[in-house]
Amino acid sequence: MDMINFKKNEIFEADVIDLTHEGQGVVKIEHFPFFVDNALPDERIMMRVLKVGKSFGFGRVEQFLTQSEHRVSGVNLDYLRTGIADFGHLSYEEQLKFKQKQVCQLLTKTAHKEDFPVSNVIPADRTLAYRNKAQVPVRDINGLLTTGFFRKNSHTLIPVENFYIQTPEIDAIILFLRDEFRKIAVSSYDEKTRQGWLRNIVVRKAYHSSEIMVTLVVTSDKLPKDADRLLSALTEKFPNIKSVQLNINADTGSFILGKRFKVLYGQGYITDTMLGKTFQISAPAFYQVNTEQAEKLYQIAYDFADLKATDVVIDAYSGIGTIGIGMADKVHQVYGMEVIPEAVSDAKHNARLNNLSNTHYEVGMAEALLPKWLKSGIKPDLVFVDPPRKGLDETFIKVASETQARAIIYISCNPATFARDVVRLEEQGYQLDKVQPVDLFPQTHHIELVANFIRK
Ligand code: SAH
Repeated sequence: MDMINFKKNEIFEADVIDLTHEGQGVVKIEHFPFFVDNALPDERIMMRVLKVGKSFGFGRVEQFLTQSEHRVSGVNLDYLRTGIADFGHLSYEEQLKFKQKQVCQLLTKTAHKEDFPVSNVIPADRTLAYRNKAQVPVRDINGLLTTGFFRKNSHTLIPVENFYIQTPEIDAIILFLRDEFRKIAVSSYDEKTRQGWLRNIVVRKAYHSSEIMVTLVVTSDKLPKDADRLLSALTEKFPNIKSVQLNINADTGSFILGKRFKVLYGQGYITDTMLGKTFQISAPAFYQVNTEQAEKLYQIAYDFADLKATDVVIDAYSGIGTIGIGMADKVHQVYGMEVIPEAVSDAKHNARLNNLSNTHYEVGMAEALLPKWLKSGIKPDLVFVDPPRKGLDETFIKVASETQARAIIYISCNPATFARDVVRLEEQGYQLDKVQPVDLFPQTHHIELVANFIRK
């Protein structure tokens, strides 16, 4: 078959036949796929060709001929462009179905588990304004310090004032800081010249306690002249702020945070509760961004595990200790491991805050610590894992399987690496038993799930 020689700006009439996992509509013209923002399955569109590659291209909706019954109208397209809410144009009901289908498809494709009964996604009660954390880049637009979000796959700042899925008070703090920084002519970071002071504003607001932490990511710890006045104005206007810190990052890499923190106001941490337990959270430590849904997620993980008072539990990738501490009074011992030292000191502190004496935390890579612990005689009955997007390390899976623990409970924020790990865990003698997705990230493509693996 002759390939069409597509030209930029050409317009085609086409049906949207599918949705990618990141929310772009899929259109095929003579079998050649185009990815189109803001296009939903079952819509018929006039598509303008934006870019053509070897095996796929990108298009734009020029005009809708028909629209999906599941389309949410009136959503600001900047939320789609930036990925703040890349599923914001799809009804919440359909978002949940799509996420469930994604997990099923990955299990089929990667783990050859056709028809595995993945449970329906547990919905969020709060589908907007739920995030407890913002990390907002600061850049110059036409000579004006501006806060917003990068356009997807770029470092082009799109100004945003209402972040839609974030706690409104966080948005208010960002706007207040933006306006104050403009008044005193603070310079924003320029990636090309590497000049400028302010790179990012990070704000966390604890869901239950309402305590707030503000972190300014800057290129040096030299403060602007008016910093003291600004700090008083900020903390007076937002009395829930318990911590303001500088984070110094002069690197060119894509990591938001640098290594060094400096407390400007209050303490170096905030405190929140989850499932009735108290947690201190310091700036570099991970903390789930949707507290209400994370509490459901953890509860399901405990229910899967069927905790017993005699159980020795490993909490791998433990962060500030939320998962292990949440169950510590129902089991015999909890051993947690985590690479970020500040998170581990939070976890140790959190055990004391909750009057626990049966938890043990150590800094290190899970794949290095687990074999060491087993050699030292620890015999776990249960292994909880909650790895970052890249999933579990292969040696970790081998060693975890040698423990003969009765179950491995896997919390995953990436169903693709999860499906890969299902294959590896089953090879090592752990049978996938249950998969329960929980929607921690309404309006976005992100999928969280908890799975139970039983010793064969
Ligand atoms: N269980 C915690 C944290 C989960 S996020 C919670 O629910 O809040 C994943 C954590 O794994 C992060 O804290 C990250 O710092 C940590 N981590 C990443 N790679 C790791 C590794 N190889 N070994 C141990 N911890 C790791």
